[in-house]
Amino acid sequence: MSSETAGMKQVLEQRLSELESRLEKLKRDAAKEHSSDSSEQAQERENDEVVDAIGIETRDALAAVKAALLRIDQGRYGLCAQCGGDIAVNRLKAMPEATHCMDCAA
Ligand SMILES: [Zn+2]
Repeated sequence: MSSETAGMKQVLEQRLSELESRLEKLKRDAAKEHSSDSSEQAQERENDEVVDAIGIETRDALAAVKAALLRIDQGRYGLCAQCGGDIAVNRLKAMPEATHCMDCAA
């Protein structure tokens, strides 16, 4: 494993634990009992919808980070899924979970 890949692995593992704790918090918030007051209920329903959107986004991000870590384990990290070429290091630094090189992503 190159030192660059090792560095990206650290970044990805950090991101993985952040996303997992965010998802846990969302689940806890969603499980909270709802108030019986009707105006508060309406407000809570709105909040629930926001939580749902963030939850989906978080789960998607989590899946992408896990897939990137798997590619590192398999020695395929940093290779474009479409053309098999190297993904630029600067691109990986900006987006560690990138699966495509700049050309193929465009
Ligand atoms: Zn490509």
